[in-house]
Amino acid sequence: MATPMGQPMFADARAVEQNRVLETEVCIVGGGAAGITLARDLINSRFRVVVLESGGFSYDVSTQDLYRGPNTGLPYFALDGVRLRYFGGTTNHWSGDCRPFDDADFEARRGIPYTGWPIGAADVRPFYGRASVTCGLPTTNLRSVTSSALALAPIRLRKERFVNRIVRVVPPTARNFAARYKEELQRADNVTVYLHANAVEVKTNESGRKVSAIRVATLSGRRFSVRARVFVLAAGGLETPRLLLASNRQWPRGVGNHNGVVGRFFMEHPRFLAAYLASAGKQPNPRFYTEHETGRERIQGYIASAKEFQLASGLLDVQLHLEQVYHVPKDVSDYAGYIADLVDEVDSWERVTIPGLPIPIPYPDVLRDAARDPKDTYNALRGKLNSIAVTARIEQAPNPNSRVRLIRERDALGMHRIALHWQLSAIDKANVNRTLALFGVEIGRAGAGRLKVLHAQNETGWPADTGGGSHLMGTTRMSRDSRHGVVDRDGRVHGISNLYIAGSSVFATAGGATPTLTLVALTLRLAEHLKTVGLR
Ligand SMILES: Cc1cc2nc3c(=O)[nH]c(=O)nc-3n(C[C@H](O)[C@H](O)[C@H](O)COP(=O)(O)OP(=O)(O)OC[C@H]3O[C@@H](n4cnc5c(N)ncnc54)[C@H](O)[C@@H]3O)c2cc1C
Repeated sequence: MATPMGQPMFADARAVEQNRVLETEVCIVGGGAAGITLARDLINSRFRVVVLESGGFSYDVSTQDLYRGPNTGLPYFALDGVRLRYFGGTTNHWSGDCRPFDDADFEARRGIPYTGWPIGAADVRPFYGRASVTCGLPTTNLRSVTSSALALAPIRLRKERFVNRIVRVVPPTARNFAARYKEELQRADNVTVYLHANAVEVKTNESGRKVSAIRVATLSGRRFSVRARVFVLAAGGLETPRLLLASNRQWPRGVGNHNGVVGRFFMEHPRFLAAYLASAGKQPNPRFYTEHETGRERIQGYIASAKEFQLASGLLDVQLHLEQVYHVPKDVSDYAGYIADLVDEVDSWERVTIPGLPIPIPYPDVLRDAARDPKDTYNALRGKLNSIAVTARIEQAPNPNSRVRLIRERDALGMHRIALHWQLSAIDKANVNRTLALFGVEIGRAGAGRLKVLHAQNETGWPADTGGGSHLMGTTRMSRDSRHGVVDRDGRVHGISNLYIAGSSVFATAGGATPTLTLVALTLRLAEHLKTVGLR
């Protein structure tokens, strides 16, 4: 079947005639979660759609290398490891954790600069149901899943202070956007996906108020451009700002960057091992806090401070994930054998890892100093070795100095690479410290044990195991005013009539939740905007 442009639905950009100009109505850069969602939603619309996707249908070393770049701030994932550059994008290996933003996540926080979105929860909420199914969740019904799952939460908390919450987890077989939606796009009459097509420059008219074309390059040396009425950049949280910054032949600071905001405000959900919860008797059953099946859903529970409490106290979201470190069985028949095996196991703990972190030894002294009698040792351990590790995952505060910049080095297409300077601030530190202190009090009150916080409250710097969640947010943030952001409430670049951005780079704040469900909901909202407002 041929498109109105006479191309098959998936086309190879390397076969496009040199210097050709393709014409369409909507041009989308990037075929990952955001790009695929937008293209699907425009199937059967009155617009012809071209998707420019850098990769093919599988991983390719040379294409992936276009993502390489240094980290100059806090230690972070390699920039060519934290995202994937082929059709389906990073959904080719994401973990599928989904949770919508809470209403309060869109609001300004007292005492925390740059918080608050130009849109509210009511603008996004209508799109979460469809976004859930798009992401691969089995149902749209968030409310019923949440309330039945929460009924099983073992730690009873004062809901005005701390609450049990859940994330829904997309089954592994349903996670990959490429596998789920390739055929649908293949069949669409009005969509053509160009593979191996790298957008290398956004060109504007003379006034800079309208994009005229996107320049495309392939690794095989082919060059062509796409003219459209509307352009949507959906190349991911690091590559979309890179493309704007690198489009600097007409505009030395880059396109959409008259106020120098493009690439700033990079946010993650930093995480580290924050505390141990030692049970004071009856161990809270950790199953709720471990990924598990309930009914038709996979879920995982965690604890966080209540949103109203966050708003009243000027706190941001901190997720507290609980994981059983070691469980001493109720009965053993051979005490001496059990203790000997345990000593062997504890000796090897330092070599074992939980997602990238060395498992610490919570009570080595108990084992070393325990009474010689194996039964006494066993009894001593039963009370002490049942221990739960608490990992904090933090909503990072918006910070203009946490940023992506162009560097001198160029990639194989001649485009400047980027460096990521990830930075956390004193606000982040105070937020997590205060939340942990309050959580310790709450755990004691609930009779769920004692919390041993691992890092001193006055400690400067961040724990050595601090890392991110591969969530790339904020670098083209949404704002009412062009001085504080890059896109407006519709996702349109301030001051440019036909350039939009889809993806978590438009997040004004990070919220506590994983980003993909919300970026997909925002993309569906953008599709509706384009269909309603039309193409001007
Ligand atoms: C290991 C891992 C686990 C994750 N787990 C979760 C999770 O549990 N929950 C969650 O919410 N999120 C998770 N994420 C993040 C999630 O994958 C991203 O939020 C999501 O994929 C972003 O979608 P996107 O479309 O904006 O970007 P991507 O999916 O990265 O897609 C961008 C697309 O643009 C293409 N592209 C890039 N540059 C160009 C260019 N110049 N020209 C043309 N095409 C280009 C790329 O090839 C790619 O296909 C995880 C990420 C990783 C790495």
